[in-house]
Amino acid sequence: MKHTWKVARISGIDIKVDSSWLVIFLLFTFSLSAFYFPQSFPVSNRMYYWLLGLLTSLLVFASVLFHELAHSLTAKKQGEKVEDITLFILGGVARISDEPGTPQKEFVMALVGPVSSFVLALFFILVSVLVAPFSKPIQVAAAYLGYINAIVGGFNLLPGFPMDGGRVLRAIVWKATGDLKRATRVASQVGQGIAFFLIFFGIFRFFRGNLGGLWLVLIGWFLHNASVQGYSQVLLKSSLEGLKATDLMSKDFQFVESDLPLEVLVQDYVLRQRERVFLVKEGEKLAGIVCLEDIKKYPRERWPELRVREVMTPAEKIIYVTPGTTGDQILQRLATANVNQVPVLEDGQVIGIVCRNNLLQVLQLRTELGI
Ligand SMILES: [Zn+2]
Repeated sequence: MKHTWKVARISGIDIKVDSSWLVIFLLFTFSLSAFYFPQSFPVSNRMYYWLLGLLTSLLVFASVLFHELAHSLTAKKQGEKVEDITLFILGGVARISDEPGTPQKEFVMALVGPVSSFVLALFFILVSVLVAPFSKPIQVAAAYLGYINAIVGGFNLLPGFPMDGGRVLRAIVWKATGDLKRATRVASQVGQGIAFFLIFFGIFRFFRGNLGGLWLVLIGWFLHNASVQGYSQVLLKSSLEGLKATDLMSKDFQFVESDLPLEVLVQDYVLRQRERVFLVKEGEKLAGIVCLEDIKKYPRERWPELRVREVMTPAEKIIYVTPGTTGDQILQRLATANVNQVPVLEDGQVIGIVCRNNLLQVLQLRTELGI
């Protein structure tokens, strides 16, 4: 089960919390309240440890948010759109809707993250020094926050894409060679190297009896996926840049009624006519669009009871493109809107539909033909 909750909105950016974040939040609170603080100073009431643990743990994640906000606000300033920031089990991630346009922009945007963490680290260390004569608990908590922020800053500076340091490396190679694809490949390979190192080092530590090793394995595994994915995204983008909506769309589409049972749609339309996308109408109005991917989301047993209306992308959520929109822009729109298809609109008429699958099929055909 995957759930995210929107908890705030800062400068037009939605701040979200993923359910997996609760795990790490509780883990932090628990290890601070049950071990770290009790080992650092005595108190008369143990509740105090838990209160301080909770507060410190919240500040840890406020710091992670601060780091992501630094990226996001810089991106916004550079003219990019920031969708949202999500806190999850391995930290935070900002969804920025486009890759930076120049190496300089990418360099600055990547670097502000670790810099903001180091600034926070200095701030907390300063607080810890200043309060030392007055309050041992606050001194210990502030020192801990300083240490965590320094780790966050340092870890993110590792030069593997898609970590901040990897993006800095990519920007430098990009600037030097003028080739974004090559720069991404280099940074992604370093990223995979670091990921393997983390995984092996984590396993090694685990077998030496250190449970924290598993954590490194998890981070390494995540990093490996992200760096492979990041690179293939750039590859895909550059292959799609040369294609227009008219090259990618399918022109064979039909209208179906919105109250048609899914089972009938599959039997009479999909299987018999071998089509994958249908426009849905209600009376004379376009009500939505339904694609094979929408159907596949539901188990077969439910097809007889479900109506097209319940599985389609409704009209108000449909994003249109024009015949000249390029493949990479289409892909980006599909991703940002989280839909599987876009109709192509010319003079108010739907002239075709591009499905996520079309993009891949066209690419595959072109690769096979060596185009
Ligand atoms: Zn960062």
